Amino acid sequence: MKFIPLNTDRIPAIGLGTYKINGPGASDIIKKAIGLGYRHIDTAQLYENEEAIGIALKGSGVPRDEIFLATKVWPSNLTEDRFLPSVKETLQKLNVDYVDMLLVHWPHHQMTPEGYIPILMDIQQQGLAKNIGVSNFNITQLKACLKTGAKITTNQVEFHPWINQTKLHNWMNGHGIALTAYCPLGKGRFMNDKKLDEISAKYLRTPAQIILRWMMQKENVIAIPKSTNLFRLEENISVFDFELRQEDMDAIDAWRLENIRIVGVQAGAKWDS
Ligand code: NDP
Repeated sequence: MKFIPLNTDRIPAIGLGTYKINGPGASDIIKKAIGLGYRHIDTAQLYENEEAIGIALKGSGVPRDEIFLATKVWPSNLTEDRFLPSVKETLQKLNVDYVDMLLVHWPHHQMTPEGYIPILMDIQQQGLAKNIGVSNFNITQLKACLKTGAKITTNQVEFHPWINQTKLHNWMNGHGIALTAYCPLGKGRFMNDKKLDEISAKYLRTPAQIILRWMMQKENVIAIPKSTNLFRLEENISVFDFELRQEDMDAIDAWRLENIRIVGVQAGAKWDS
């Protein structure tokens, strides 16, 4: 496993995405993923699986401090009266005293970051979150966060070979903010791409492994692929025993498209403005 250094911590560069892993069987899948070696789990208040994750963590037998647990606060909870109570409820559901990463899931559509990032910092100071960050923030919004004095450790955004995040990624690298890639496999939509198949055949690796390896060779990139399938879970974490040659890194870089996004953004928000 590769680890990305954070503020005072380090984060496993491949984590388990858990959107839509809920309902009966969810905690079993997450427990099995931990058994396969996943040590970073990404959830959110929105995903309705925090209780299942809590059960999986306890049942896994892996000590709490060996798991990097990240969750996200939904925008409607970013107000002064709801932020802290919602985080306490989240911790209760997860059955933990703290999370390793607490993210603002989306920028609030009315309040600016100056309105809620200080509350996030306060929650960190209370010891309820070891690291803090944001998700779906563009450069302007990140600048507003940094003005509050917050140490933003990551911005979780859509990232895969078919979306151009170069400007945002470079800016974040310059400010010590790691990029956590959501939908790293493009929700599985690009798996039949002919160019990807060619590289995959060359390395005798699956298309998903090529994409994830490409990310692992980039600076300060964390990926959180989701799978409910045991074979694919194992496949997605087995990308540390081969290396893509620079010519193939460059070839994949060249696939990026402008204005392609699988997950919608709020009106007016652009990643790199
Ligand atoms: P992903 O890009 O991780 O793709 C998941 C899809 O790909 C599933 O259909 C899965 O099917 C399939 N898949 C997984 N592994 C493989 C493989 N090796 N080969 C072929 N297909 C595969 O999409 P997600 O939307 O789930 O994104 C990942 C995570 O990012 C989420 O689970 C969530 O934690 C986070 N996220 C955050 C957002 C935010 O706003 N911050 C927004 C969206 C996601 P199967 O399960 O059958 O294997």
